[in-house]
Amino acid sequence: MGRRGRGRGPAAHAEGGRRRRRREYEAPGTILKGPPIAVTCECGAKRDLAYGESWTCDQCGRTWNTKQIPAEQYQEIRKLQLRYRAVPVALASVIAAIAIFFTLTGNIFSVFFLMPVGLIGWFTLVRPVHRKRYRQAISDLPRWDLRPE
Ligand SMILES: [Zn+2]
Repeated sequence: MGRRGRGRGPAAHAEGGRRRRRREYEAPGTILKGPPIAVTCECGAKRDLAYGESWTCDQCGRTWNTKQIPAEQYQEIRKLQLRYRAVPVALASVIAAIAIFFTLTGNIFSVFFLMPVGLIGWFTLVRPVHRKRYRQAISDLPRWDLRPE
């Protein structure tokens, strides 16, 4: 692929490229809380914070508070993320519903056909487009300048 380094979003919130790897060990409840905010200290230290969290830098002792970000701005990002995450969920539900329908009507062969086709369709067609749109949407969002407290 070789695309990993491209299209990085602003540092104030999660970037598309890094998200992918983080997803596996994201804490439950992250979806409700919204995407993490990448804070870079003046000394260069970095930390991902949830909205509302504050962080005291280990190296220089400055304290950064994500509450300085206006709530309605963060809300926009959260909504955007939720909207984009709803797409794969909705799609999976549709495929599952069709599979259940075929199973109930005794058409097991169609289920075995539908599942691989659905998966291949998702990975080759829908997912790349969806991901690109999400990155574009996120790169239009603001980045904030926090002040140390
Ligand atoms: Zn620092």
